[in-house]
Amino acid sequence: MAERTRIIEGTWNCTSCDTRDILARHRSCPSCNNPREETGQESEFDFGDVDPSSGKSRREGVTDEKALSAANAGADWFCDYCSASNRGDTPICRNCRAERSATSRALTEGAEEPLEPSAPPPPPPLARQGSRKWLYVGLGLLAFFGTCMMWGSRTHGVTGQVTTTEWTRTVHRETFQRVSREGWRSELSTRSPRMPVNGTGEVAGVENIRSCFPRQRGTRQVADGTERVCSTKTRQEKCGTQEKCTRKKMANGYMKETCRDEPKYCSKSYQDCDMRTRYRSEPVFDVSCTYDTYVWQQVDTRVESGRDGAPRWPALEPGAYDRLRREEKYAVHIGYEDDGDGKEHVHEPKSETEFLAWKKGQAVPLEVNNFGSAQILAGDAVR
Ligand SMILES: [Zn+2]
Ligand SMILES: [Zn+2]
Repeated sequence: MAERTRIIEGTWNCTSCDTRDILARHRSCPSCNNPREETGQESEFDFGDVDPSSGKSRREGVTDEKALSAANAGADWFCDYCSASNRGDTPICRNCRAERSATSRALTEGAEEPLEPSAPPPPPPLARQGSRKWLYVGLGLLAFFGTCMMWGSRTHGVTGQVTTTEWTRTVHRETFQRVSREGWRSELSTRSPRMPVNGTGEVAGVENIRSCFPRQRGTRQVADGTERVCSTKTRQEKCGTQEKCTRKKMANGYMKETCRDEPKYCSKSYQDCDMRTRYRSEPVFDVSCTYDTYVWQQVDTRVESGRDGAPRWPALEPGAYDRLRREEKYAVHIGYEDDGDGKEHVHEPKSETEFLAWKKGQAVPLEVNNFGSAQILAGDAVR
C-alpha cells in the first residue's frame, strides 16, 4: 500500500522572555536571542492537534529545503559549556564554538506514537444518566412502598365482641336421568346402564347408538409445494478506504508522519433466502353418532338459614334413583372499636362443631393492623 510521508514542524516556548510558539527552525529566541536549551522544557516541542480517527496531524507539513535538512540532521545535542542546542550533524557549538564531546547530552524523544490512533472520546453518558435517573426513581418508589407496607403491617390489640352468629344449609336433590348425547363412533361401544341404590353404584351405560353422520373432527397440515422465504441479515463489507497515520518524533523539533490507506468495513444488509416446504390445512372427518346414556341432574334445591345456635338441614326426601348433596356455611360477626370507629370482622367457621363454640356476646381478642384488617388472636376464643 502506498505510503505518504510528511515532516511536521514543532514549536517551543522561550523561558527567558516568555515568547511562545517559536518554530523549531529557530535555535535562538527571535525576541531575546536566548539559545534553546534542554532545561525549562524549552526542548519539549508541541506538534499541535491530531485528527482522532486517522491519527493525522492537523498542521501543514513543511516542504522547504532548509527545514527538511534540519529534520534529517539527527538528534540535537547540548553544549557542555553554554547549554545551547545544536544540529546533530555539526561537531562545533554554534553559540560558543566549543567541540562536541563524548559526554555531551543528546535529545531523546524518538518514542513511536501508538499505531492505532486513540479511540474517539466516548459520547457523553447521557443515556446512562437517563437510565440511572429512572433507577433512582424506582429505588425511591420501592423505599416508599416498603415503608408503607411496614407501617401498614404494624399491629395493635383490641377486644371485640360476638354480635351475630349465622348459619346457612343447602340440600340439592339430583336424579339419575336418561339423556341423549353425541360421540365419535370409534369411541362408542354399547354397555348396559345400572341404576343407583341409595344414591351409589350406578353405571351410565351407552345404548341405542343411531343417526351416524360424517362430521369434521379437526384439521391436519398437508405438504403443498415449496415457497421462498427471505429474511434480512447484515454483514461487514469493504466500503472504500480510510487514512491511518503513525508519527515519530525526530529529537530535533520535527516529526515524521507516515500515512496510508487501509480498507474500511461497513455493515450492509442483504436478503437471505431459502426454499421451504409449504403446508396447507385440510379438514379431517370422522363419524359422529347419537346415543342414550344416564347422568346425574339437579332437580331440586332447598335452603334454610338462621341466626340461632341450632343449625338444621332443610327437609328433602330422595326418590328411588336420587341422591342428596349437602352444603353448609357459617359466619360469626365480631364488632370492635378502632380509632373511635365501630368496625366488624367476619369469621367463617369450617365446621358445625367450631360454629357451636361461638356464643353471642362473647369477648374476642383481636389483632388489627394499620390497613384496618383484623385477625383473631390464637387463644381460648378459637376452637
Ligand atoms: Zn526569548
Ligand atoms: Zn556552547
